[in-house]
Amino acid sequence: MTTANAYPVTQTIRTIGILGGGQLGMMLAEAAMPLGYQCVFLEDSADCPASLYGRVFHSDQLEDFIAAADVFTLEFENTPTVTVEQLTNLSKSGSKQGMFPPLIALDIAQDRLKEKQMFNSLDIATVPFMAVNSEAELQQACHELGLPIVLKTSRGGYDGKGQFVIRQDSDIKSAWQDLKDAVTGEGSLTPTPAPLIAEGFINFSRELSIIAARAQNGQVRCYDLVENHHHHGILAKTQAPAVGTSHLFQQATDAITKIMNHLGYVGVMALELFVTKDARGNDALLANEIAPRVHNSGHWSIEGAVTSQFENHIRAVVNLPLGDTDNVHPAIMLNVLGQYPDISAVLNIDGAHYHSYHKAERDDRKIAHITLMPNDVADLEPALAKLIAVLPNKVGLDKKSTTADNQQKALDIPTSTEAEKSLVNTKVTEVMEVTKIITGDSQKDNMTNAQAKVNKAKK
Ligand code: AMP
Repeated sequence: MTTANAYPVTQTIRTIGILGGGQLGMMLAEAAMPLGYQCVFLEDSADCPASLYGRVFHSDQLEDFIAAADVFTLEFENTPTVTVEQLTNLSKSGSKQGMFPPLIALDIAQDRLKEKQMFNSLDIATVPFMAVNSEAELQQACHELGLPIVLKTSRGGYDGKGQFVIRQDSDIKSAWQDLKDAVTGEGSLTPTPAPLIAEGFINFSRELSIIAARAQNGQVRCYDLVENHHHHGILAKTQAPAVGTSHLFQQATDAITKIMNHLGYVGVMALELFVTKDARGNDALLANEIAPRVHNSGHWSIEGAVTSQFENHIRAVVNLPLGDTDNVHPAIMLNVLGQYPDISAVLNIDGAHYHSYHKAERDDRKIAHITLMPNDVADLEPALAKLIAVLPNKVGLDKKSTTADNQQKALDIPTSTEAEKSLVNTKVTEVMEVTKIITGDSQKDNMTNAQAKVNKAKK
């Protein structure tokens, strides 16, 4: 038997080797256990969240890690590609049973420029962007794209780091000074030299993501579109399904399916999207980035979908049939950042599901998540209000904050003057949908519509 990647599958899989041992690795292991699989992890921090579920090997013990596992996957996309290449070669030679997702997916996801070039080559719309290798090229990009622009490192940035918003010509010098080391691979931003990427600043109305799983036989199953709210680039809240997005579902599933097929992908992937307006004034999606792994905006699926993203990723990796991705119930997921709440106060809320990552408290660190799924959808909003009240750290959860505020926070844009604030607000309000949580029948309708689309896409 051969897989889509032409790996000869000859032995029984017992142990899955996961590159990384954070909370994503932990939740992958939780999903693997009932299916009969053990996980081991390659991770330098011995007391990482995944250590509760399987043996952790330090990167110095790579050979032992390899010997302990039959098939490999990852939970962290900044994994060195050289390790992934080694595991891929072992799989091609038949001594291991696969490295999923494929190396190319990692190579592209680690580089914003390659990622956006791939989107465009597949006719998937993005913000306008240009590569920047020098201050002169940055001047040129500002001129061609028009201010404001977001200047980003192509590699190495995460959670909003390595980004600079250029609002006026006088910002260009400092933006270049701040990020130029990434072009040569000096400094702390990234060790691999790569051009910067200048992106047009997009006044999106909402941030959505779609998650899908692709099996070794090429079958793709998509979850509902969800809506995400960030604070300083860190995900604070996900609503699943995203209210009022059924008209965008087909575009999103087409995009992620095209990407997965193009990469010969196996496993779960997330595609992050901005909602904006096209030339005719209709809602349109722009692709921002892929995550070649299970994703924070899919944590709701543990309780809220027939098969969770974690289980579907494991199924894909061990070559089992994918499970149903249908949403069984609308849900809201909140990340617990920095400080643990009183767990009994959380569990006092009907429909609250608590997932601790067993990490030490530290400012804005993701240490747990909570999914709200009260039996009656009408209780979702009151449950959210109760939950926010008992969370010690409420950053990004201010219900009154607008998408424009969230966008500013995501990019750390100072809002010192009203003039600056209106720069973002004016256009956003033109396209902003009401992002309040809709309860009762209207949300059910939305879910039914989204479901109808899922079912259609599955045919
Ligand atoms: P990223 O690191 O690309 O995921 O960006 C972090 C956050 O910054 C996103 O979630 C958006 O909220 C915001 N952002 C990124 N790129 C742009 C852009 N070109 N225009 C406006 N906002 C952006």
